[in-house]
Amino acid sequence: MFCPKCGTQIPENDHYCPTCGEPVANAAKTPDESDHTAMFEASDIERTRLLSALSYLSLLFVVVALLLEPNSKFLRYHINQSIVLQIFGVVAALVAIIPVIGWIVGCVASIAAVVFLIMGIVRAYKGQAKDLPLIGKYTVVYYN
Ligand SMILES: [Zn+2]
Repeated sequence: MFCPKCGTQIPENDHYCPTCGEPVANAAKTPDESDHTAMFEASDIERTRLLSALSYLSLLFVVVALLLEPNSKFLRYHINQSIVLQIFGVVAALVAIIPVIGWIVGCVASIAAVVFLIMGIVRAYKGQAKDLPLIGKYTVVYYN
């Protein structure tokens, strides 16, 4: 690990550069593997972020959005997440049929699904492409 300011090698577990005092947090910052925003074109994001956010609300919006923007990678990224989220919601509802344990797990999963839904909408609208926790790594719609 090297200091981003002066280039001095910084011993592991040190919090400041021994030469210039720069905080090591800057140097230690590893790229966020779940954030794919950089791989999408800014014009694509700007054009489709609203449609992407709406796609989380209903499969009807997914179909309409795909008809309007069939070539948008950013839109497809969020459509993938919204569909995985819908599947997650169905699984949570099925699990909740099982007495006691299923009720608890299903209840927790349903709350998580609502939180993920809000996260997805907010991130899409902000023009971000960051994988949702737990479920965001699954791909059912290819966007690349
Ligand atoms: Zn330094």
